[in-house]
Parts: sequence; structure tokens; C-alpha cells
Amino acid sequence: MSAPAPRPLSPGDVIGILGGGQLGRMLAMAAARLGLRTHVFAPAGDNPAFDVATRSTIGDYADEAALAAFAQAVDVVTYEFENVPARAAAALAAHRPVLPDARALSTTQDRLVEKDFVRALGIATAPYMAVDDAGGLARAVAALGRPSILKTRRFGYDGKGQATIRGGADLGGVFRALGGAPCILEGMVPFIREVSVVAARGLDGAFAAYDVCENHHEHHILARTLVPARVSGAATTAALDIARRIAEALDYIGVLAVEMFIVETDGAQSVLVNEIAPRVHNSGHWTLDGAAASQFEQHIRAVAGWPLGSTARRGRVEMRNLIGDQAAAWRDILAEPGACLHLYGKAEIRAGRKMGHVTRVISE
Ligand code: AMP
Repeated sequence: MSAPAPRPLSPGDVIGILGGGQLGRMLAMAAARLGLRTHVFAPAGDNPAFDVATRSTIGDYADEAALAAFAQAVDVVTYEFENVPARAAAALAAHRPVLPDARALSTTQDRLVEKDFVRALGIATAPYMAVDDAGGLARAVAALGRPSILKTRRFGYDGKGQATIRGGADLGGVFRALGGAPCILEGMVPFIREVSVVAARGLDGAFAAYDVCENHHEHHILARTLVPARVSGAATTAALDIARRIAEALDYIGVLAVEMFIVETDGAQSVLVNEIAPRVHNSGHWTLDGAAASQFEQHIRAVAGWPLGSTARRGRVEMRNLIGDQAAAWRDILAEPGACLHLYGKAEIRAGRKMGHVTRVISE
């Protein structure tokens, strides 16, 4: 059955959101501000989006009957995470438009497919090779050298499903440690900065990008985003152009984030794509306080078939994630003039868990 075509929604219509985490929560809040209702579908667990959605359903992504009932209760379906199973997306798309669509999901769920797609657009990536077994890993390491990074093709996030291969590594052991799953090996990129472009494409094909974000990770988790990124004008232009080309090639509807590396050779900066997230992204959280329309509002506008909002920045911005017990500092943050505190309402503080974030906007 082919997917129904997306159509512009009206205030009061219902946006279905797969996933009950903080991204779903902030999407639901943005929808409410625009007079749209939300219905969140998520498996049992701590689902902070349930606190703010109009309706919630606890269900499994493999339960096609539950998904069909959910789809029939909403006007359009979107999601807060890219690992929506293909079968779930197809079950939903039989009833309602799923945005971003199945092509965006299948392209971004598999690192090999994603990198092949990016390369086919003439956009640079790290050198990479597919690895299906220990012998393939040995051949890839011989070709790409050490250090290099082995990544599972599917289901990796925040550094999970990855291993750095250095001199002396037991290749068979490294491959087994990643579960023997299909992988890619990537050459190590000597980047000077990690950046992302958060952008949106509307139902009418309009494209709008926020300024380039500079991202700093700690323990493989995003810790801090600075905007605008401290990169050359040429790299900024190239990064924005890459995001537009990717969005157009996918005929994309919604917000996407393209994570990139900046490398410098003989004083000139160039841009390599690392990965594409077909959703709102942690590096775009600053837009809630630092941009005219936030990434969450922008995504809601896009999937509702409404005009995109302005991505104009309100100043120089710093966003810090509150990870684990860093969120215990909430009182001090509240006391700081100009600090914008966001807590996700998660029931339990755990090490490595994103509990909230704080944004500071400095007028330029
Ligand atoms: P990823 O899950 O692909 O976003 O990788 C997580 C982090 O690992 C990135 O944000 C980089 O800091 C680092 N990383 C990933 N791939 C490479 C690479 N090919 N070269 C250098 N660093 C990388």
C-alpha cells in the first residue's frame, strides 16, 4: 500500500510522535504552542514526553496492530529517533504520512548506505570500507591504517557500537566485541573542529538552516555547543551547502542535522560529513532560546506542511548539556541571570543520562 501524501494540517490536528524521550517532549511542547495536539507512542519506561503530550500510548514498535491504531488516531506521524524499525514505518505509512519518510530512515539507519549516499552526491567523508567478518577487518585495517574506527553499521549512538583500532589491537577480538555485526571501518580524521548543521526543509521545498554549530564531546556524549562555530567563512558556506544538498537529494520534510568534521590543510579548511540524523538534534537545543524559531517549532511547522520559521540567531550562544548529576546544579543555574534552564523531567538521575541543558545567549 502506498503512503498517503502529506497535506497541510490545521490548528487542532494531531501530530503523532514515535519516542517518548526529551526530543519528543520538546516537540510536543512546540506543537502545543502552535495549537496542534500530539500523541506520543513509546514503549514502557521513563517517557518524559508523556508529561506534556495531549495523548500517550505505551506500545511496542513491533506491535503492528497497536501502530495501526495509533496512526488512525493522528494526522501525521513523525519520530524523535532514527532507529524506527522499517516494518513499523511501513505499518504506519499505510495509514498516514510518515515524515521524514522511509527513504530518510533507510538512508540514515545504516552507516554504509549513508556514506555511499553522501559520496554519491560528491560530498567528502572519512575514508571507509565495509567489514563483514574478521578477515574483512584485517583487509580494511591494512588499507586504511591505524588508528582507525570500527563502527557497527546499525544502532550506534553516543559512541556505542564503536571501537578504536590502534597498533597491536587483536582484530578478531575487536570484531567479536561489537557482536560480530556488519560494520564499517573508518580512517581516523584529524579534525580541528566538529560541527553540525541543523536545517529544515518544508513541504513546499523551502530550506532553512541555522548557523553552524560547534560541538564538543566528553566521553562520546555531546557536552557543549557553541554558535556560531569558530570555522572559516569558506567552511561555513560549504557546510550549509552540504546540508541543503543532502536535504534536497532526500526530498526531505522536517528538521535534520548533519554532523561534520572540519579539517585544515595548508591553512584552508574543508568539510567532511560524519553522519546524518533525520530528526531534531541535541546540537540544535540552543535554538529554543537563541533563535527566532526553535528547531522543535521548525520540525512541527515542516511536518504540518506549514511555512518554515526564521532561523535568525539572537546572539552568540553556548548550550551545555546537564548529564547525570550535573543536573543537581539546577538551583545555581536558576540563580544565574541570563541562563536558560531546561530540565527533561526524567524520574531518575543516571550516569551518562541527558537530564537537561542550559543555554546562555550573549548579545552581539
Ligand atoms: P559517531 O557516532 O559517528 O558520531 O562518532 C562519535 C564521535 O567519534 C564523533 O563525534 C567523533 O568525535 C569521533 N569520530 C567518529 N568517527 C571518526 C573518524 N572517522 N575520525 C575521527 N573521529 C571520529
